[in-house]
Amino acid sequence: MATSTQQAIPVLVLKEGTTRTTGKDARRSNIMAARIIAETLATSLGPRGMDKLLVDSFGNATITGDGASILKEMDVQHPAAKTLVEVAKAQDDEVGDGTTSVVVLAGELLKNAEELLDENLHPTVIIDGYEKAAEYALKVIDEVGQEIDPLDRNTLKKIAKTALASKVVSEYKDFLSDLIVDAALQVIEKTNTGKYKLDIDNIKIEKKRGEAIDETKLVKGIVLDKEVVHPDMPRRVEKAKIALLNTPLEIEKPEWSAKINVTNPEQLRAFLDQETELLRDMVMKIKKTGANVVIAQKGIDDVAQHFLAKEGILAVRRVKKSDMEKLARATGARIVTSVDDLSPEDLGEAELVEERKVADEKMVFIEGCKDPKAVTILIRGGAEHIVDEAERAIHDALCVIRNIINEPKVVAGGGAIEIEIARRLREFSKTLGSKEQLAVEKYAEAIEFIPSILAQNAGIEPIDALVELRSLHEKGEIWSGVNVLKGKISNLFEEGVLEPTLVKKQTIKSATEAAVMILRIDDVIAAAPPKEKGKEGGSSPGGGYPGSYY
Ligand code: ADP
Ligand code: MG
Repeated sequence: MATSTQQAIPVLVLKEGTTRTTGKDARRSNIMAARIIAETLATSLGPRGMDKLLVDSFGNATITGDGASILKEMDVQHPAAKTLVEVAKAQDDEVGDGTTSVVVLAGELLKNAEELLDENLHPTVIIDGYEKAAEYALKVIDEVGQEIDPLDRNTLKKIAKTALASKVVSEYKDFLSDLIVDAALQVIEKTNTGKYKLDIDNIKIEKKRGEAIDETKLVKGIVLDKEVVHPDMPRRVEKAKIALLNTPLEIEKPEWSAKINVTNPEQLRAFLDQETELLRDMVMKIKKTGANVVIAQKGIDDVAQHFLAKEGILAVRRVKKSDMEKLARATGARIVTSVDDLSPEDLGEAELVEERKVADEKMVFIEGCKDPKAVTILIRGGAEHIVDEAERAIHDALCVIRNIINEPKVVAGGGAIEIEIARRLREFSKTLGSKEQLAVEKYAEAIEFIPSILAQNAGIEPIDALVELRSLHEKGEIWSGVNVLKGKISNLFEEGVLEPTLVKKQTIKSATEAAVMILRIDDVIAAAPPKEKGKEGGSSPGGGYPGSYY
């Protein structure tokens, strides 16, 4: 068939059903989505923030006030909003705290950017201004941050307490921060550069529902969620000598099947006896080293169990590799790959190895280790979600302690550092050209949103708080902030509301990055959602981006 060259031919670049939003529209809908996320989290900020009850599609409930956890459970759909979720997650992985602040700050930066867009400022100018402001803010934090002694228990406790203040389990923050700091100082290591290092993987977290949070214990050793393998073995061994094996106490089956012709019962017995003999040999070799506890990463054969029990050795099998490594660090044992290699020097030591019932389940405690380089925190709590939240809180506080040990410098929280940053940014903005100046001023305004939300969540009039704080900071009172627990403005450094500079800097970096990333987008091209099976006839209307997300 001949086609006339005159006829317009539709040019299909994108697949049918693809939606596209560009320019201002794209930017506005992205900003809107991000702001909705930020507004949701704002009411959770700080020790007086509210908690959220989140129910997943299986009906499991989580109660938390932790930004990263809320977002994880929220199942956000909008792509721009998802960016914020990702950033919060990255912040959580990186520094373990400040996740709510990141999202709230990013949301406020975007809200202010929208105002600048309305004044016809080009996004590039806004982005430049924001990036300059962030860089300056990082400098301010470095400048005003106070060095601390990373081994000073008292300061570390204050920092842990600040991190725990905004958690559901904050009622126990005194008790928990003691425990966390003890755990951290126990496993801290000096590097060859003379600095200190904390690897929080050396603090094992076990949890068992039951009792109350104040029954949570720091065990100077390792707790295994395991049982002693054989009923005839001792349940309690004092002055334990521990062998860590990552070889099975079994006769390994050959890879190919072999056929043995047995012609009479004696031959069969002889064959079986030989197997038994091999296992007995293994056990005797272990016994000879002086070991009275065996912890195996692999299996232990029934016959081997029997011999171990006969020798009065307590044994546990199929222990995770990571736990084996922690056991080695806690007891000073060396993990051995063959029983033949085991020597008395390879054994670790513990005051006591004991199987105990915890909430109707058996656990094995390897405790009373001498200067252990790995320890366990055994969390208790009345309900599943309390235990889970306690775990998250302890993990975050441990991260914060790790941060302060990496960079032993603090600032005061409660919005004190934010007000100081804003004040100095306003001065800095005067050195810039007029358009960038606007962007930097808006950045300063956005960062003041943190103290203002903290005040609001504590029932303090935010405008009054800001006015008072600004004037105090003008007079050089750089640690004045919102004392949310006492409901007034005060010197938060003196109150001991301390936070690592590392966390604050990461918060600024992540929030700025997220805002800039969203501002840079001027074109959203979304593929049509996949057609549902059995429903021929195109995508459902409104199934694409962006209409259906909010
Ligand atoms: P994030 O997820 O950002 O850490 P939080 O809910 O933990 O959010 O709140 C952190 C904010 O609460 C920080 O700005 C911190 O300085 C502030 N904060 C913590 N304890 C206090 C306190 N006792 N008084 C005032 N502010 C506090
Ligand atoms: Mg926090």
